[in-house]
Amino acid sequence: MKVLLIYSPFCTPATPPYAIANIYSFLKVNSVDVDILDLNLEFHKLKFPKEYDYYRDFILEDYEEKTNEFMKESSKIYSENNKKIVKGEKPESFDELIELIRSKKPDLVAFSVVYSSQVFYTKALIEELNKEGIKCVIGGPAINDKLKEKATFCNNEFELLNHINSSIKPNKAKVHDYIDFSSFQDYFIKEKNKVLPIKTCTTCYYKQCAFCTHHQHTCYYEFPLEFIEKTITKNNSKYWFFIDDMIHEKRLLQIAEIMKQKKVIWTCQLRPTKFSKETLQTLSDSGLKMIIWGVESGNDRVLKLMRKGTNKIEISQILKDSHIAGIKNVIYTMFGFPTETKEEFIETIKFLQENNEYIDLVSTSIFGLQKGTVIYDRPDLFEIKKIHEKKRTVLEPKITYDVESGLTNEEATKLRQKYKKTIEKINKYPKTMNFFREHMLIID
Ligand code: SF4
Repeated sequence: MKVLLIYSPFCTPATPPYAIANIYSFLKVNSVDVDILDLNLEFHKLKFPKEYDYYRDFILEDYEEKTNEFMKESSKIYSENNKKIVKGEKPESFDELIELIRSKKPDLVAFSVVYSSQVFYTKALIEELNKEGIKCVIGGPAINDKLKEKATFCNNEFELLNHINSSIKPNKAKVHDYIDFSSFQDYFIKEKNKVLPIKTCTTCYYKQCAFCTHHQHTCYYEFPLEFIEKTITKNNSKYWFFIDDMIHEKRLLQIAEIMKQKKVIWTCQLRPTKFSKETLQTLSDSGLKMIIWGVESGNDRVLKLMRKGTNKIEISQILKDSHIAGIKNVIYTMFGFPTETKEEFIETIKFLQENNEYIDLVSTSIFGLQKGTVIYDRPDLFEIKKIHEKKRTVLEPKITYDVESGLTNEEATKLRQKYKKTIEKINKYPKTMNFFREHMLIID
């Protein structure tokens, strides 16, 4: 049986998709005839040829202007095409993408759906493949019940393998000892500076933040260090993006040893909990160029309610120590957390200004309520008086809520707009690098 793994439009086409590369490597060692198609990349290459050429050799001078144009144009195109799919019409480049699938002559097509923005195009592709009698399988964090009605759902690569070959039981499958990215090329980045994604564990070990769904139903398990080392050696790339949500200090130091030996440049995402100056210096010396910190708020009451396990003083110290160690700090903030007041919002803005010297890029978001979070399950603890769910055609129901106190979502959005320029002044890198973080890693 020939299996084709597909990554659908639409998401940022800057790096190979981790999940597809991981499943591909796993199926290969289990002797499955498997191929890949990154249709998200193919869509962007067809639709944005000029931008593709630009990002293959970009310069900083006009980066902000070009990326602003690209972001505006691409989000318009994504939205128009999603509307077409909802109406049952063909999205753009559909015939070309279907032809690419046909040319691979698959018996089974497996989709990895990581973002809800990929659900629409995946649905359209599955409907067409179903008509042609090609069987489809789906998996990934953005899968919803509507997609499950159209294709077989597999929870992980072991279930997929068992679906492909029922004689291989999950406990009898071979496990790959590295991830092979050799089939992934031509992303929106200089080819010689390709940034590859890597994971070191199954999920976040902390699992406590009240707004977070990332760790749902997943056991924490660390991948062997040899797996990380071999993945880096075999793929021969200078730039690595650790996409784990959080890595603990001891493990970070073990990883740093590998990275130092390999002479690579890397980045990771961390919760700003206590990290010693020595640790941060060791990480920097090993090639860690930037850290993306989940700061979220500059107000201790809100941080406590979020269950972040951090506080203002600690965060400030970590940012300072990280900066002194030579690491670039990217900061995630979340406005409009239930009960957050206008004064607490402004305290976060002041916190960012006070730590201006140590911050290189700020990425803001507005809180959104999601199923499977502590807040959704216990809204009373967060002064949410009512949750509303509105059905949608393709995506899961849209969730909104009424609050007893604090800013509403709309008020937080307006306030963020009001302080947009103040926040942007803090950035030392083009703010559009929040869209293409990989680009921040490769520039000097
Ligand atoms: S927000 Fe980050 S640190 Fe907190 S539980 Fe989620 S993944 Fe873990």
